[in-house]
Amino acid sequence: VDGILTASSSEDLRSLGSRATARLGLARHVVADGRQVLETARRLRPRVVIIDVAMPNTDGYSLCREIKADPALATCRVMLVLSGLVTRDEVERFAECRCDDVVVMPAIGEEFHLHLADLLGVARRRTRRIAVQLAARLGRHPETRPGLVENLSVHGARVRLESPLTDVEALRVSLDLPPPAGPLQLDAGVVWVRDDGKLLGLEFRGLTPTTHEQLANLAVWEIVEDDGVQRVIMEGDFDEYTDFAPLGGRLRGRVEFDAEGVRYINSAGTHRWVHFLRELHAVTECSFSRCSVAFTSQAAMVPEVLGTGRVSSVVAPYHCERCGRDEERLLQTQALVRDRQAFQIPSFGCPGCGGSLVFDELPNSYLSFLPRM
Ligand SMILES: [Zn+2]
Repeated sequence: VDGILTASSSEDLRSLGSRATARLGLARHVVADGRQVLETARRLRPRVVIIDVAMPNTDGYSLCREIKADPALATCRVMLVLSGLVTRDEVERFAECRCDDVVVMPAIGEEFHLHLADLLGVARRRTRRIAVQLAARLGRHPETRPGLVENLSVHGARVRLESPLTDVEALRVSLDLPPPAGPLQLDAGVVWVRDDGKLLGLEFRGLTPTTHEQLANLAVWEIVEDDGVQRVIMEGDFDEYTDFAPLGGRLRGRVEFDAEGVRYINSAGTHRWVHFLRELHAVTECSFSRCSVAFTSQAAMVPEVLGTGRVSSVVAPYHCERCGRDEERLLQTQALVRDRQAFQIPSFGCPGCGGSLVFDELPNSYLSFLPRM
C-alpha cells in the first residue's frame, strides 16, 4: 500500500492528516488504538506512520522505536505529533526513539502538508509551469525541443524535455512568458544531462542587464491565494537586480512568505528586501515559513530582514557523523525548546546508516532572531 498510517484518537489530527494525504494522492489508514499500530504497519507497510504522542494508553516513543527496529519496516518514516510546549525531556526522547520528524500542534494544514511532503520526498508544491523551447544545432541540423522549466534562477535553469537532447554543449533558450513580456530569448550552456537527455541543467550566458533583470523578477516570487492568506512563494536570489516593487503593490491583509526557495542574498538584496517590507502598508499580519538556510542566516545577522513578522518554521542543516550524510530538515519554531541560555534542537535518526542526524550549526547564532519574538 502506498499510504500513510495515522495513529491517533484526536479529531484535529485526523482531519489535518486526511486533507494532507488527499492532496498528496495517497491512501490513508487510521488506528485509534495504540496496540494495533505495529500490527497494522507490518501488514500495510505504509510509507509514513504518524504517531500522536498524546494517544491514551500508548507510549508513542516506544512505538516509534519498535517500528525503527523492525527490518521489514526499514523504509517507513515516522512523524511524531505533540501538543503544546515541548520539554527538554521530550527533545531527548526524539533522538533516542529515532523518529524522522516532529510536528507540534496546533499546526495549520499547509504546515502539516509540507512536513508530510518532505518525509515522502515529493515536491512540496507544483513546480512552476513555464514552457520552454530549446534550439540546438546537432551536426548540420537545427533541432528544437519543447519542455518545462523545473527550476529557475538568474544563473540557470533545470529543464525537463519531452524528447531527449544529447551531445549538445550550447543552445538557445526561449522561455514562454505571458504577455506583455513575451518570449525571453537567452543563450545557455549545458552543464549536466540526466535521464538520458530528458533533464538538462543549463547555465545562462551573456545576459544583458535587461535580460538579467527580467530573469530576476521572473525567478523571485509567485502568489498563491489560500484561505484568506496570501502565500508568497519566494524563489531565487536577492541581489542588486531584484525589484520587489511590483510585488509590494499586490500584498494586503495576512501574508505568509515561504522562503524555502531563497538561495542567495547579498547586501544589496538585503537592503532592497528590508525597504520592501517597510513599505507594506496594506499588510496587517506577516509571517515567514520554511526559511531557507540562506534566508535564516541573513535574518540572524540583520534582524530587519524579518520586519515585524513571526517565523513559523526554518530549514535546518543536519549532519550524520557516522556516515557523513548531510540533510536539511524542516523545523517548526514551536518545536524548539529554549533553556535559559541555549536552544535545544531535536536530533533525528539517520536514514542512511541508522546513526544520528545532528543539527549542524550553532543553535544560538542560527536562531538568534527567535528570542526577540
Ligand atoms: Zn548516517
